[in-house]
Order: sequence, then C-alpha cells, then structure tokens
Amino acid sequence: MPKTILHRDVTDRCVCCGMLDTFNFTNAHDVAQCRACKSHRFSATTIPKKQDDDHKARWRAKYDKDTTELNSTVNALKSEVAKQRAIIKDYEKQLDAKYEDLPPDVVERYYVNDLVREAHEDRAKAWYARDMAMLALTRIEGVHNPVISKDECSCGEPLDDCKVGLALEAQQPHLFQWQKKRREAGKLSDEDDPRL
Ligand SMILES: [Zn+2]
Ligand SMILES: [Zn+2]
Ligand SMILES: [Zn+2]
Repeated sequence: MPKTILHRDVTDRCVCCGMLDTFNFTNAHDVAQCRACKSHRFSATTIPKKQDDDHKARWRAKYDKDTTELNSTVNALKSEVAKQRAIIKDYEKQLDAKYEDLPPDVVERYYVNDLVREAHEDRAKAWYARDMAMLALTRIEGVHNPVISKDECSCGEPLDDCKVGLALEAQQPHLFQWQKKRREAGKLSDEDDPRL
C-alpha cells in the first residue's frame, strides 16, 4: 500500500508477521506493523524466538477462527438446504393432492407419457376398424334392403329367401345409429348412404 495515503484506514500486510490488518498512517515514514507485533522488536534480517513464537500463535489463532467460521457457514448452508428440501417435498405433496382431485383428462395433459399416447392410438385404431366394418355393412345394405311393398329384398329375392338381408337384420339397429351419426357429422358420402 503506498504510504502517500495518509489519515485514512487502509488494509495492508504487517511487514513483521505478514497478516492483513487495518492501518491509519499519519506520516510518510510510518511502517505497516500491526499492534500485536509492536510488542516485539521487528527485525528484517534476524527473527528472534519471541517474534517467531508470536507469529505462529497469531497465525494459529487466525486459522482456528477461520475454520470455526467456515464450519458454521457450512452448517448454516446445510440446514438451509435441508429446509429448502423440506419445502420442495411439501410442494410435491400439495401437487400430488391437487392432481388426485383433477379429472383424468387434465392429469393426462400434464403427464402425457408413452402409455397414455399408445392407449389413445389403440382406441383410435379400434374406432377406425369399427368405422370400416360399418361402412362395409352399409354398402351391403345398399344392395340388400327390404322393399316391403313388393315383399322382397332389393336384390330381387323374396324377403324370406335373401340370406344376406336376413343376416343384416340383427345388426340393423346399430347400423342405422352409426349411419345417423355419420350423416349428421357429414361423414357419410351420398353414394354410401342407403337412405338417399
Ligand atoms: Zn504483525
Ligand atoms: Zn511481528
Ligand atoms: Zn338381398
């Protein structure tokens, strides 16, 4: 630290023990020698035993103090981490409790995993297969539907003799319902609609 800084607290190393201390120089010839070192005579060339012992004691005390401070800082950090972990755990519990009350579709939106997606895909495939089967039955029904006035099937066979028409009869309630929904959704083309 330049000696030109006078009448002001400056931090510098003691020229004797080498420890950092605060000095307030009052003239340009002041030496940075800490208060503890003023009790023994400072010598730049020879190190008397008292001076050496003093320095060792000071450094050891400083080491002990620093270690204690460090330990208490570490302990404080550890307990802070434990506290934060407890808070996080509490939040997780609250979240779990919240999701238990939510309807499944809302939970799904947050937890879209492969299992959920696969289940949706399987369901979509099942619906597609069902639609294809219903459409096939609808086309068959277009060829074989009862013409009551003539007491015959539209294929030309007498009603009681058309095996296809008789086989379709059992499925007709489901088939008509499916056709109605498709028609309302605009998904049944005119050429497939036996009602047109
Ligand atoms: Zn000193
Ligand atoms: Zn000293
Ligand atoms: Zn027929």
